[in-house]
Amino acid sequence: MSTHSAPCGSLFGGRGIGLAGGILVAALLGPIAFAPASVGAAAITPVMTCADLASLSLAKTQIISASEFISASGNYCTVIGVIDKRVSTQDPDHFTYGIGFELNLPDSWVGRFEMEGGSGTDGSVTSPQGSAGTELSQGWAVAADDGGHEDAPINPAFDWADDDDSNKGGTAHFGIDEQARVDYGYKGIERTTAISKQIIARYYGQGPRYSYLWGCSNGGRDTIVAAYRDPEMFDGLVAGNPGFDLPRAGIAEAWNEQQLAPLATGMDSNGQPLLPPTFPTQDLEVASAAILSACDGLDGLVDGIIDDYTACTNKLVYPALAAYTCSPGGAHGNTPHGGQCLTAAQVAALKRIYAGPTNSHGKPLYSRWFWDAGIWDPLSEIVLGWGAWNVAIPQLPPTTNTAKNLTQGAGGIAMVFTTPPVVTPVAGPDSQEAFAFNYNFDTDAPKIFATTCGYLKSSTDFMTGTPSGPSPFLFPFRHRGKMIMYDSVNDGIFSGVDLINYYNKVNLAMGGHAQDFARLFMIPNMAHCGGGPATDSFSANVLTAITNWVEDDKAPDKIIAANTNTSSPFPRGAPFDPRVAQNFPTGGTRPICPYPQQTRYNGTGATKDAANFVCVSPPSAAPPP
Ligand code: CA
Repeated sequence: MSTHSAPCGSLFGGRGIGLAGGILVAALLGPIAFAPASVGAAAITPVMTCADLASLSLAKTQIISASEFISASGNYCTVIGVIDKRVSTQDPDHFTYGIGFELNLPDSWVGRFEMEGGSGTDGSVTSPQGSAGTELSQGWAVAADDGGHEDAPINPAFDWADDDDSNKGGTAHFGIDEQARVDYGYKGIERTTAISKQIIARYYGQGPRYSYLWGCSNGGRDTIVAAYRDPEMFDGLVAGNPGFDLPRAGIAEAWNEQQLAPLATGMDSNGQPLLPPTFPTQDLEVASAAILSACDGLDGLVDGIIDDYTACTNKLVYPALAAYTCSPGGAHGNTPHGGQCLTAAQVAALKRIYAGPTNSHGKPLYSRWFWDAGIWDPLSEIVLGWGAWNVAIPQLPPTTNTAKNLTQGAGGIAMVFTTPPVVTPVAGPDSQEAFAFNYNFDTDAPKIFATTCGYLKSSTDFMTGTPSGPSPFLFPFRHRGKMIMYDSVNDGIFSGVDLINYYNKVNLAMGGHAQDFARLFMIPNMAHCGGGPATDSFSANVLTAITNWVEDDKAPDKIIAANTNTSSPFPRGAPFDPRVAQNFPTGGTRPICPYPQQTRYNGTGATKDAANFVCVSPPSAAPPP
C-alpha cells in the first residue's frame, strides 16, 4: 500500500481548468438580486429562451448544453454543466475533476427549487427528472450534481472520469484528490445550489421563493450538514437515513465485518474471509424471529412490527437470542444454517455488532444499534437491508464477498475517510476488503480526525462540515427553515441510535425546542432508504408535509405512510407470515410519528388502516434529562 500527497504550498496552486469544448467564462459575478417568486400566484414563465442559457456567463462554470425537453408531465429546459472543472495536479493519474450538474427548469414554474442530495460515494449525475419527477411535474425547478467526480458517467455529456485502469481505488479513487474530497463532502451541493439559483434568476427574471434540499443516505448527510453549514441556503430540508456521521459509521463497517470474519469457513479470491455463508438469509430470518419474540408485543399489537423499539433492549433480546441458540432438545432444534436456530458464534457476533465498535480500551468509536425485526428482509438484495450491507447481496452466489461494507464501504474507509488516503486496489492481497478486515481500532480509527500538509481537512471535517463532527447548533437555520428527518430503526449502515442521540443534542442545544423546526420520524422494519415490510412509502406525503411546514407554518404531527412491499405473501412459516401479511399487508397504511412519539394501535378496527393508530410518547422513548 502506498500513499500520495501533494507537497505543501502547491495544493491550491497550478490547478488546471479544463478548456476543452463548450463555453468557459471565468468572469466573476456578484450576487444577483431579483425579487423572489411567489408560490401560489400565476405560474412564472421564462424571460429568455432555453437555447440562450448555453451562452450564460457564470463564474468558473461551463454550460455544456441547454435543451428543451418535452414530456407528458410538462415541458422544461434541461441544463447540463460543470463547475470548477480542472485537471488534478495532486492525483498521480492527473484525472479531470469538476462538479457536474443537471438543472431542469419548467416552462411553467411555481417558484420552488429543489436540490437533490447525493448517494453512496457519488460519482455520476443521476437525473432529477427521475429522482424528483413528482416535483418537476408540479412545476418545481430541480437540480442534482455528481459530488465533484465522475466515476461512471450516466450521461455521455460528462465525458471525463476519475476511473482508472490501474486498479487504484475504483469508485473511491477520487479520495486521492483533496479538492475532490471537499467537493464530495459539501462543496458539490453548495456550488451547484448557488449556480442553479443564478441560472434560475436569469431564466425567469426572479430567484426561487423557496429552496429545498432532499436526500437519503449520503444525501441525507448532505442535508443535515447544510442545516448548520449553509443555514441561509435552504428553507426546507428532508434528510432520509442520513449518513451524517459517516466517517464514524465507516469504522463500524470494518468492525461488523471483523466480528463476522471468525465465523467464515472459507476464503474468497482475495484471500479474505468469505462472509456470505456466515449468515445466510434463513439465519437472518431466525434472528428476526428471536427479536420479534422479545419485542413485538411491547407496543400492544403482535404484528411483526416493533413500534416500541426504544424498549427493545439487550435485557429482553439477549434471553430471546439464547432461546433461539441451537441446543439438543432446544425449542428451535440443533440444526443451524437452514434450520430454526442460530449457532452460539452467530449470536455472539450479533451482540458485538449491535453493541457498536470500541477500541482496545473499550472506548466507543461510533454507536450501539436498535434491535429490530428488519434485520431480515425478503427483498434485501434490492432494497439494501441489513444483510446486504453486512453479509452479502443474497441473490448472488456466495463465492465472493458482496457485502456493501466490503465493496463500497471498504473503498471509502481506506481512500476517503482515512487521512492520508491509503491507496488500495479493488482486488488482490492488498485489496480494500483486506484493509477493512485488518482495520486497527486503536491506530487506524483516529485517522478520521487526521490531517497532513497534502490533506488539510480531516474526513470528519469535510464529511460533517466541522473538525469535531456533526454540530447540534442550528440557531441560524432555526430562524429560516424547517427540517424533516426520517430513518430506519435498524438501518444496516447508519445507526438509528446515533441519529436519535444527535436529535436529542439538537434539542438540548435549542433549549428543548427542536420540534419547532426539526422533526424525526423513525420507521421499524424499513431497509436503507425504503423497502421492507414497513411503512416505507411516504415520499408524496413528506413532500406535502415539508412544503406545508415551510410555506404555511403547518408542522407535521404525523405522516401517513403505506406498505408497498410486494413480496407478500411472505414465505410460509417465516416470521413475517402471518404477522405482517395479516396485520399490515401490501397497501396498508399507518402513521409515522415524530420522535419521541411512536405509532400505537388504538385497539379497535383494522390494523391495516392508519385511522386506527395514534402517536404516543412512551416512557421508553423519553429523551435523557
Ligand atoms: Ca408490534
